[in-house]
Amino acid sequence: MSLNRSEWDDLFESFPAWLCPTCQMGRLRVKAPVPVCETGPSIAAKDDPNWQPDWVIKRFACFAECNDGDCKEVVAISGNVVRPDVYNDKYGFVPGGDYYKIASIVPAPLPFMLGEEVPSDVTAAVKAASTLIWADSEAAANKIRIAVEHFLNERKVPKSTINKKRKRQSLSLHTRIEKYKAKNKDLANHLMALKWIGNNGSHTAALKRKDVLDGFQILHHIIDEAYYKTRIKLTELSKDIIKRKGRPKVRRKLKPLSRTSRKRSV
Ligand SMILES: [Zn+2]
Repeated sequence: MSLNRSEWDDLFESFPAWLCPTCQMGRLRVKAPVPVCETGPSIAAKDDPNWQPDWVIKRFACFAECNDGDCKEVVAISGNVVRPDVYNDKYGFVPGGDYYKIASIVPAPLPFMLGEEVPSDVTAAVKAASTLIWADSEAAANKIRIAVEHFLNERKVPKSTINKKRKRQSLSLHTRIEKYKAKNKDLANHLMALKWIGNNGSHTAALKRKDVLDGFQILHHIIDEAYYKTRIKLTELSKDIIKRKGRPKVRRKLKPLSRTSRKRSV
């Protein structure tokens, strides 16, 4: 399952059919109609002679149910209804239609499937990032960084070392990823990219949701390579062993060289 970025837009005219976070098989269907309420301060503001349509503040809250008959998980969605300006040739920028701006989904849809093969700590960090992405991109990026740390723990990359003063010293995430390069250079490069996304999440406010989605995409590749592809290879290996009933693999006999080819090879 590849990441469908349109399911993590900032604004929605209608809700996408996210993959159910519980069974990871069914799709979430929002129960219509979606209740929308205008806030008291927003209604009161209409008495102001300078009132403008873009002063309106509305909230929404609804449920979505998994369409898998054996699951029927229910998720709660809430946030604001916003009316972004659209450009009009005659009047310039004017308020457009209503859009849902999600602030919270509980439990949140996952950006990719998380099977039993994935260590529980990594799964927990991805779930936390999936929840936070709706409210706080920087916090979500920080959880991706934590997922990287758990991944390295599971891969038995040391967390600390003994320094020259014979004291135990923690290793930075950067150093740990460098160490992991010896085991898997390709995945280590992907982990380094995630480290930078996580760093931005910790230190600046410039990080956007699209950066977190980049992080999800890279993390998906790492998890796929580290756990699922390994599983597929092992399944194929087991099938092969069963087929051979444990007998050693038959090696193809090399054909003896013909007289002419012998001559050529000399
Ligand atoms: Zn479900």
